[in-house]
Amino acid sequence: MIATIEKLETETVVSVNKTFHYKLKPTKNQEIIFGQWLGTCRYLYNVSLEYRKYLYAQKGVNISKFDLINEIPEVKKTEGFEWIKQVPANTLQAVIERLDNSYQRFFKLGAGFPKFAQKNKYKSFLLKNNSSGSEIKVSGNRFKLPKIGHVKFFNSRPVESKIKTATIRKEADGWYISVTFVGNVEALPLLDNNVGLDLGVKYFAVTSDGEYIDNPRHYNKYQDELRILQRSLDRKKKGGNNRNKASIKLDKIHQKIANTRKDFLNKVSTKLISENQSVVVEDLRIKNLTKKSKPKLSDDGKTYLKNNRKQKAGLSKSILDAGWGMFCNMLDYKSKWFGRWFVKVPAQYTSRDCSNCNFRTEEMPLTIREWQCPQCNSFHNRDENASKNILKKWLEDQN
Ligand SMILES: [Zn+2]
Repeated sequence: MIATIEKLETETVVSVNKTFHYKLKPTKNQEIIFGQWLGTCRYLYNVSLEYRKYLYAQKGVNISKFDLINEIPEVKKTEGFEWIKQVPANTLQAVIERLDNSYQRFFKLGAGFPKFAQKNKYKSFLLKNNSSGSEIKVSGNRFKLPKIGHVKFFNSRPVESKIKTATIRKEADGWYISVTFVGNVEALPLLDNNVGLDLGVKYFAVTSDGEYIDNPRHYNKYQDELRILQRSLDRKKKGGNNRNKASIKLDKIHQKIANTRKDFLNKVSTKLISENQSVVVEDLRIKNLTKKSKPKLSDDGKTYLKNNRKQKAGLSKSILDAGWGMFCNMLDYKSKWFGRWFVKVPAQYTSRDCSNCNFRTEEMPLTIREWQCPQCNSFHNRDENASKNILKKWLEDQN
């Protein structure tokens, strides 16, 4: 979809949803409670999934999240399941909503069918505040949380207004909290600069200003370390102490990769948004690019063509590694924060058109990185030319 400039009016002060993350300093007892609640939520997630599957398979019924939520009070009354009551009611509701979200992703986006939640994958639960904001509050270096009371945390920056939700997350090195609230940001003054971006694999991005932003390849850097650790983990006895230790080590590296990646994406997106009035990218269907490729039938339909699996897996991984989706998401919310415009334009012909004279060349294989326009003789770097066309599409749309 192409947004038009009329729709993108800026206001000087904008209300936005903000999320701040902190590390918690729970007592031993609070850690035990967090662990129990997490276990209860995971349990509810898995039985609800089983129940949904059962209803569909046996009766052809697709039960709604509202009907599922309405059955929770009954579960609480069931003998042997009273312990579910210890978890706040809206945290249990949020579990059903989380399950419903994975169903929606399956129905609407073609994601995989919801899976049972493994212990090492299901790591967070949500707390919702009441309307007066009295259940989740912050004072000094303590959060007040429903049913748990005051939990200490490392206060790195102040929460600006009434907290709406808090997500408690278990990481390799302890417990974290993410709180959301409505905050204000002041829009930046309007600028004349606009930039187009060609998001790629060779470079993370090439801008229409001719800047080549290197791909940090965090994953590659840690890959050897990951492989060695994974191998040593596989050799260790299941349930053993050594295996646990190795598994924690592995989690820590994964967390490190995720943090460095996020840090990189944050820096690049902030710089682009602060220096330009509009940031324009191609509307790439990232999902399609990263999907696993199926073997193709040959023209006579008799044999399957060998596809270059290895190469494709590498490309997909690089795309995922580059984190385009997360990056576009950041550009989107930062543009809203600061009164800038983040725009997606259709991806057609951006690599084939000459950005100087508009001459359209034949389809070019990805291996061709540089070319000369047969009409105006301009010399082009493939990605830089594409980013210029991307910006042009948006600017021309304004006239
Ligand atoms: Zn040309």
